[in-house]
Amino acid sequence: MESALTARDRVGVQDFVLLENYNSEAAFIENLRRRFRENLVYTYIGSVLVSVNPYKELEIYSKQQMERYRGVSFYEISPHIYALSDNTYRAMRTERKDQCILISGESGAGKTEASKKILLYYAVTCPANDHMAALGDRLLQSNPVLEAFGNAKTLRNDNSSRFGKYMDVQFDFRGAPVGGHILNYLLEKSRVVHQNHGERNFHIFYQLLEGGDDDLLHRLDLDRNPQNYKYLVKGNCPRVSSISDKNNWKTVMKALSVIGFSDEEKLLNIIASVLHLGNTHFGEGEEGETHITTETQIRNLEKLLGVDGSALREALTHKKLTAKGEEMISPLNFEQAMSARDALAKAMYGRTFTWLVEKINQSLPETIFFVITSVVSPMLITLECIWPNFPNIPAYSFEQFCINYCNEKLQQLFIELTLRSEQEEYETEGIAWETVKYFDNKIICDLIEEKHKGIISILDEECLRPGETCDISFLEKLEGTLGGHPHFVTHKLANGKTRRVMSREEFRLLHYAGEVNYNVNGFMDKNNDLLNRNLKEVMCQSDNQILNHCFRREEVIDQKRPEMAATQFKNSLMKLMEILMSKEPSYVRCIKPNDAKQPGRFDEVLVRHQVKYLGLMENLRVRRAGFAYRRRFEAFLQRYKPLCPDTWPNWHGKLADGVSTLVNHLGYKAEEYKLGRSKIFIRFPKTLFTTEDALEA
Ligand code: ATP
Ligand code: MG
Repeated sequence: MESALTARDRVGVQDFVLLENYNSEAAFIENLRRRFRENLVYTYIGSVLVSVNPYKELEIYSKQQMERYRGVSFYEISPHIYALSDNTYRAMRTERKDQCILISGESGAGKTEASKKILLYYAVTCPANDHMAALGDRLLQSNPVLEAFGNAKTLRNDNSSRFGKYMDVQFDFRGAPVGGHILNYLLEKSRVVHQNHGERNFHIFYQLLEGGDDDLLHRLDLDRNPQNYKYLVKGNCPRVSSISDKNNWKTVMKALSVIGFSDEEKLLNIIASVLHLGNTHFGEGEEGETHITTETQIRNLEKLLGVDGSALREALTHKKLTAKGEEMISPLNFEQAMSARDALAKAMYGRTFTWLVEKINQSLPETIFFVITSVVSPMLITLECIWPNFPNIPAYSFEQFCINYCNEKLQQLFIELTLRSEQEEYETEGIAWETVKYFDNKIICDLIEEKHKGIISILDEECLRPGETCDISFLEKLEGTLGGHPHFVTHKLANGKTRRVMSREEFRLLHYAGEVNYNVNGFMDKNNDLLNRNLKEVMCQSDNQILNHCFRREEVIDQKRPEMAATQFKNSLMKLMEILMSKEPSYVRCIKPNDAKQPGRFDEVLVRHQVKYLGLMENLRVRRAGFAYRRRFEAFLQRYKPLCPDTWPNWHGKLADGVSTLVNHLGYKAEEYKLGRSKIFIRFPKTLFTTEDALEA
């Protein structure tokens, strides 16, 4: 039989806290690599689950596996997402505390897959109640719908979630799931009108063209070829080998009916209208005035959306302004008309997506007893700009700025909560706390979100400032206010010279995870997120009830400016942080092993980078601050009692005394361990390994 030691050599340790050299990044990565090679994709850092995307189906997700993990303690069985799901569930039931599971990792690392596995685990293993089957179904079915409308093929992930997702599942007093709620934030709307090379628009467009039957396409005036639609050709990537748009279409349509959705027709009218809008073209007259050259599209829009064609024509080429109480109409030039059209397409799609999420929520009953799972799936981006093998990656845009801000906040929360829970555990166990050094990223959060002085405030101010403002004037404002900040860099050097490697349109933020360049182009527009008032008016008058819901009359009447995009995002993030702070968190940290989406490949540079920006070494240091390992007295006794005649076969006295007797017999030295109120804390992995080996012998 293979000895425990050689097995450890081969498959590594299943909890990083047991690494001998816990300060060494190389040892950390080597442990991940060993486990990955053996198809062991899960490893713990204490209660945090680290998961490496295998890029192949592993036979570890069956119902039998679920049964194995039910009610079993974390350390008794190999690490698994089911163990984390089960532990969270039991903590909710026994401690009566709301739980949340935070899933993070870069695009393609496996966040969405992890969240699906958690949901499936609950749907299968939790006790059923009367409407459980229906609810479990609806929760699971919400996924294909959300993915069709919110996911797209990107360079990094064929099924990339282009929105942040936060999901609650509620359980009743017996532990049966009874309700759910999904919160979405920051859909990447710009994808509706533009895609980078090799990327696609949202899946639903291709699914409709590929899977919709002839009658449907005829009614929507669409033909099957995606290449005929301007909004679908930008990425030059109509088909993806790993995706069957046709099958997915069927799944989505079925899912919509399981959720109890009856407005398909209206929904598809909007999706088709977005495509027609994209094919709407303009011509320029001699005086520079703009007119529409594609009448068929306008007629299609008129029919599908139930709007007035001439009002739409007018609104796409003119702007309505109110100055000193008087209404004025001013013509749009060619460029302005194009961007008004794109703004309408983005607004229609974005608002319909929000409406869809609301609909799904309505289909999930909301009898709140407990909130347990909150899955946050931010689109964490790789910070490739600092990678030597990606020399020409363009600077990032507004959306990525928001996403990286979100990740900064989540990191802050992560550190705060892990430190807090460690400290609390030491306190409850009556063990002295030893301070840990870590990088506090508050300075970067402040740089972005601080009132008046932060980047978001400056952006808002610049958007509101009358007169000639543009992205470059915004950048200049940033330089004026933030120049000299240790985490903010532009092409201007302190001595007045310019930094040649940086473009004049960029600023660089030194995030906790590394440096990222942002191009200010489009920041003002995207933050403003303005839709001309007369376009809103046309949409309000639509007889499509979804649009009616999305474009409210009050919005047109109310002259007050709505909050700008970045501020809206900041506020929803604050709310999210508040919710998360009030819960007991568990973490899944996902890692992508290679960029080729291939099984069996472990790219060390890529992995090291993620280990760094996920803050895993920091996390390990916090966890190892004093003790590598801790276990409740009863569990420790249960496992090691055969090693001591006084505790074998049973110990009848106090648990603490039993543990004391056992470790004395094993020859533990005073500096090697401490006994808390209910747990034993062991300082070095070696002590534990020796004990484990004695058990094996
Ligand atoms: P994004 O931020 O772009 O949404 P993500 O982190 O949600 O990315 P996923 O969509 O979950 O990434 O995973 C990408 C792909 O990796 C999946 O489509 C699947 O092919 C594969 N994958 C992820 N996790 C697993 C797993 N546990 N087993 C097998 N394959 C997986
Ligand atoms: Mg995803």
